[in-house]
Amino acid sequence: MAERLVYADNAATTSTSPAVLEAMMPYLTEVYGNPSSLHQKGRIAKAAITEAREKIASLLNCKPNEIYFTASGSEADNWAIKGIAYAMKNRGRHIISTKIEHHAVLHALESLEKEGFEVTYLDTDSEGRVTPEQVAAAVRIDTILVEVMYANNEIGTIEPIREIAAAVKEKNPKTLVFTDAVQAVGAIPINIAELGVDMLSLSGHKIHAPKGIGALYIRNGVRINNLIDGGGQERSRRGGTENVPYIVGLAKALEDAVGGLDEGKRVEAMRDRLIDAITAIPHTRLNGPKEGRLPGNVNVSFEFIEGESLLLLLDMAGICASTGSACSSSSLEPSHVLLAIGVPVEQAHGSLRLSISRDTTDADIDYILEKLPPIVERLRAMSPLYNG
Ligand SMILES: *Cc1c(COP(=O)(O)O)cnc(C)c1O
Repeated sequence: MAERLVYADNAATTSTSPAVLEAMMPYLTEVYGNPSSLHQKGRIAKAAITEAREKIASLLNCKPNEIYFTASGSEADNWAIKGIAYAMKNRGRHIISTKIEHHAVLHALESLEKEGFEVTYLDTDSEGRVTPEQVAAAVRIDTILVEVMYANNEIGTIEPIREIAAAVKEKNPKTLVFTDAVQAVGAIPINIAELGVDMLSLSGHKIHAPKGIGALYIRNGVRINNLIDGGGQERSRRGGTENVPYIVGLAKALEDAVGGLDEGKRVEAMRDRLIDAITAIPHTRLNGPKEGRLPGNVNVSFEFIEGESLLLLLDMAGICASTGSACSSSSLEPSHVLLAIGVPVEQAHGSLRLSISRDTTDADIDYILEKLPPIVERLRAMSPLYNG
């Protein structure tokens, strides 16, 4: 048994906070009514959804009727992309995105390509950034949608979304702008009114709510097709009986995350301690930027090491980490994000992502910094390519 257990995979998922669970509890037990029912059990459930929607809208600075609940961040991403593509296909079939998006976005786009849509995947610089000029230059008369993620889940790069949205609208006011903000919401301040995007997605389990709840902001006036037809839920735009406890939990989690954004400073300080100490190990590179990086993200590549072996030994030492995104960690393909920013294949194979959160303590960082360097040294000693 390891002396300690350190969870450093918060970009994959976070713990459900006790406060969130407590807020959800009544709706998992006695308040079980269907929000569409007219009797009191239904009305109480419906009131809880209304309150959650208002809370989320006020925290993100949009209108309550612009927030739609979904079953995940992936669903919100799929809905925004496919819903716009199908609604706008007679106006144009060109979409712009980047090479470093989450698979929920990339695979939705690939599926549209099979149906005859054309997608431009923008390159990023070596730190994972796209520029407003670069995006605007790709916008055409038939560009119906631009999607750029707010912050990258693997390397933590924060994109200039506000400037990108402005540049797109200046080039073509009819082009809609969507941002996958799943990693950004709750980690950095977000003000939708100032941002100027038409759509924005978020997910509960990345901000200490449970897995299986997300939301999509859709600006009033945007024409979008449904992804899930059904009853009249979510103003007839997303069928399915509402997941009342999870909706309540999402609102509570967002409230606590936004209320605790100052915690970001403490998380950032821990992140920088990790980055400084780990990059001091020879033949190690930081992936992603030093500035303009998510407070909880560390991503490094170690030469002469396989990321999978590293993960295994860290796991044995009680440290939960990942090589890149959780979704692709079971495949041995190198990360598409690292390849896109120009990391050589061998180094992409030797990558490690440590993602921390407000749950993380200085003692956790001490522990990682005690265990990691000797493990790296041990693995390198076994590599035929490494000679000190
Ligand atoms: C986790 C994540 C998603 C998917 O959200 P789920 O709720 O897990 O479906 C989408 N985009 C980004 C950037 C993510 O980090």
